[in-house]
Amino acid sequence: MTTTLELDDITRTYGPETAVEDLSLTVRDGELFTLLGPSGCGKTTTLRLLAGLEQPTSGTVSIAGQTVASAAASSSPDERDVGLVFQDFALFPHMTVGENVAYGIADRPAEVREARVTELLDLVDLAGFKDRDPAELSGGQQQRVALARALAPEPAVLLLDEPFSSLDIRLRVEMREELARILDDAGVTAVSVTHDQEEALSISDRIGVMHDGHLKQVGAPEAVFENPESRFVASFLGQAGFLTGRVSERRVDTAVDTLPREQLVGATEQYVGATIDVLVRPDDLRARPVADETDADGVIARRQYTGPSFVYHVELTNGDEVRCRQNHTERYAVGTPVDLDVVAEHALAWYPQR
Ligand code: ATP
Repeated sequence: MTTTLELDDITRTYGPETAVEDLSLTVRDGELFTLLGPSGCGKTTTLRLLAGLEQPTSGTVSIAGQTVASAAASSSPDERDVGLVFQDFALFPHMTVGENVAYGIADRPAEVREARVTELLDLVDLAGFKDRDPAELSGGQQQRVALARALAPEPAVLLLDEPFSSLDIRLRVEMREELARILDDAGVTAVSVTHDQEEALSISDRIGVMHDGHLKQVGAPEAVFENPESRFVASFLGQAGFLTGRVSERRVDTAVDTLPREQLVGATEQYVGATIDVLVRPDDLRARPVADETDADGVIARRQYTGPSFVYHVELTNGDEVRCRQNHTERYAVGTPVDLDVVAEHALAWYPQR
């Protein structure tokens, strides 16, 4: 059976507020699809529409070819064959771990239930925890139990809303890798929602970037990161900066460097003479301190120490602001005049100046 999910031209309004507008999306069988975007962009509403916790104002939701929601009627989460792992879906404190996992399969014969609980606790690496109380578990272990509980009835689709946001960063990284493995092993189609770009990029088969109730771009993580179709998506992913560039026959001149025109994807002959914004991320640039400010491209305005590296915010003399990531041994003070080079050898995205 195919478990493809489809949102067709969905709009959801709350009084004068439009949370999601004209959104169409197909999630493929077996994939992990992640919606991401800034706060208030409509991610959670989209997930709740898929879950059956919200009804669309217009448009339809289908699961496995069957319409489960429209403006006229909407089936409940129970009728939809979906598993939910939401941030605020706590475990039942008065039940053991095993009883929590078995909660959604109470109607099955005892031996089937037992076998399924054992299988799932194995899957989430909690074999031997069956008789424990949830209160005796760490945050990460509790989330694994929540995952096992959601998977127990073998839902066609698993929906996850920021499931690890309450965990500390180290555990979060561990859990997201675990999640990808567990979903893969379970062979389930999943849609997740997160603020965490790194999480979305590292575990998803495809991502969808949302803004203001609209889906701005959908694709494989690498494709969206390397080729953001809009300035918004570019700005949202990966600490983007923009260099003003002037396109000529062979080159693009920017305040910091001259680039070959062919390095800019799609900057064809017709753009000769145009002024554009070239997308540069911290790894695309390199800063070198210079003694004389008059030789500098700009000045270090701020810096962030991340452990392995420094991220320098450089204010260019023409007003552009960009960031560069340098090794932690390259320690420069705020106010240092620097010369910048574009060190990226890959194709660069760009946008016509407004
Ligand atoms: P966050 O990342 O902060 O959770 P989000 O991207 O998940 O945000 P949504 O929760 O989907 O965003 O909200 C989208 C918009 O719809 C927001 O402007 C929000 O205020 C509005 N909204 C969501 N739910 C309701 C509601 N029940 N009543 C009124 N407005 C709502």
